[in-house]
Amino acid sequence: MTIQPETRAFEAEVSQVLHLVTHALYSHKDIFLRELISNASDACDKLRFAALSDAALTAGDAELRIEIEYDKDARTLTIRDNGIGMSRDEVVDNIGTIARSGTRRFLESLSGDARKDTQLIGQFGVGFYSAFIVAGQVTLTTRKAGADAADGVRWQSGGSGEYTLEQVEVPARGTSVTLQLKPGEDEFLDGWKLRELVKRYSDHVAFPIRLRAESDGKPTGEFETVNHAVALWTRPKADISDDDYRAFYKSLSHDFNDALAWTHNRVEGSQSYTSLLYLPEKPPFDAVFSGRDERKGLKLYIRRVFIMDASEQLLPAYLRFVRGVIDSDDLPLNVSREILQENRLVAQIRSACVKRTLDLLDRLAKDEPEKFAQFTSAFGNVLKEGIAEDGANRERIARLLRFASTHGEDASRNVALDDYIARMPAGQEVIWYITADSWLAARNSPQIESLKARGVEVLLLGERIDEWMIGYLHEYAGKQLRNAAKGELDAADGSDAQAREQAAAAAQPVLDKLRQSLGDAVDKVQVGQRLTQSPACIVLGEYDMAPHMQRLLREAGHDVPASKPVLEINPQHALVQRFAAETDPARSADLAHLLLEEAQLAAGEQLADTSAFIARVNKLLAG
Ligand code: ADP
Ligand code: MG
Repeated sequence: MTIQPETRAFEAEVSQVLHLVTHALYSHKDIFLRELISNASDACDKLRFAALSDAALTAGDAELRIEIEYDKDARTLTIRDNGIGMSRDEVVDNIGTIARSGTRRFLESLSGDARKDTQLIGQFGVGFYSAFIVAGQVTLTTRKAGADAADGVRWQSGGSGEYTLEQVEVPARGTSVTLQLKPGEDEFLDGWKLRELVKRYSDHVAFPIRLRAESDGKPTGEFETVNHAVALWTRPKADISDDDYRAFYKSLSHDFNDALAWTHNRVEGSQSYTSLLYLPEKPPFDAVFSGRDERKGLKLYIRRVFIMDASEQLLPAYLRFVRGVIDSDDLPLNVSREILQENRLVAQIRSACVKRTLDLLDRLAKDEPEKFAQFTSAFGNVLKEGIAEDGANRERIARLLRFASTHGEDASRNVALDDYIARMPAGQEVIWYITADSWLAARNSPQIESLKARGVEVLLLGERIDEWMIGYLHEYAGKQLRNAAKGELDAADGSDAQAREQAAAAAQPVLDKLRQSLGDAVDKVQVGQRLTQSPACIVLGEYDMAPHMQRLLREAGHDVPASKPVLEINPQHALVQRFAAETDPARSADLAHLLLEEAQLAAGEQLADTSAFIARVNKLLAG
């Protein structure tokens, strides 16, 4: 059956991407070649995989390869593969009308900085469109492996709004993409230039990339392989240079930043496999990375055959920043996602990946502090999820975390728990911390005033994840971790119990008065050892969630039951003394509520009635 040629419109989002690509993304334009070669290589991978169950698919032409040809007179550049090819429907689905899931995210992630945005394109599954950076017209001709020559498809587009589809005769399986170069893009019609780009970006593509050699400016008819064409991880470590590793990382991840570090291992034993794991320098892109649902980046090969992206099966979520390759000798080639979930060998590889990654981080922390600091700022908060998720490795992960502390000058997170313990004075038994909305709020928390005054170091946990994470970290290296805002502060601190009781007795009248003024608004009022400068602060029960966290959860639409606060006061403070001396009941009530509201604000809480608070402040200020 012959289908008539037709013209179709791109979906709005695809058009938007195309418009951007043709009008705004002009720097680093040579990435288009990397993207098209990467698609050709993916197509060869897919065919090799499909041929496992249907050998007829590669019969007659078993040597998978990628070919690049150019024609100076016609000003065209063609990238061809003999991979899986596409049916008509697949062409429409994959590169035609329908916006794929990455399209919207790509648009959302654009920064407006052309240099950065061009580089993003391959990471969002819209790499094909990068062809339009250099081409005014793109023609894709394809024949699905196993399909008849008569059922080939030609797709053509000028990159603005629409494309044509036509049924054509295609003599051999696979896909060829021909770019009609825009004026001024003649550099891509040069053998040396193309060879250099292939070497730079695609040397480690595991299939031969062959360039049609030229002599006297004319193609000779001979193709010459220009890349290494060997899967990098299969080569002996000693033969691989750092530059090789870096280049492979880039082609693997479509990341334009470098890899920060990597670990390459061959395991022989009850099962054999190779792992090559990378830490990126920077989060590849926030939009996808922050979502835990769709994880990608660790490719599973079985005896050199690419099987699938198995990041979810081979890595826990808290190591989702790892990129790399696992190549197993022992898994069955017909493995499915379901099998991967419960396979014993996979479970072993997974825990080895965790161990290798943590080992690599240990090594960075020890030997390359600058790189480790870079890691901490890029992925430290993701790693923290492991404290909750991976109980077996909790202590190891905790050792890799870095925090800001009252001993630091600024917000930089550079204090390890081991550093803290090493400088703990004799007699101090616990590791103190405080959580808050931000580093600044943590540092200025009234709850840590007396600890600070006594020179006791307090870890300042100002990241959103900290409150949740620290709930799973009760102990490190035999030391308890304690929140300075929770429970009795002095009990764990060994200060004089008798002095405490005396102070409490002396403060009893003001406590009673406060209790009376505040009534139901508080659970309890108390004197304690926390405050030196502020008049009052909120104290949390052992299992209470910090107020700033409660607020965030409420803002996110969660139903967080309100608990009544415990208010700790500083009887020495002028405001508390003024309250104690105040005889007018109305003014007493205002002062009492102010003390409470200030403490709530300092704890990052939202006041139930802000206007009442303002009215009280104004009344008191006006005398
Ligand atoms: P990605 O490669 O990340 O999926 P692209 O925009 O580069 O995104 O490609 C979109 C899709 O088009 C691919 O997933 C693939 O299904 C299809 N495709 C592109 N090029 C080829 C090719 N040479 N052979 C077969 N399919 C291809
Ligand atoms: Mg691609």
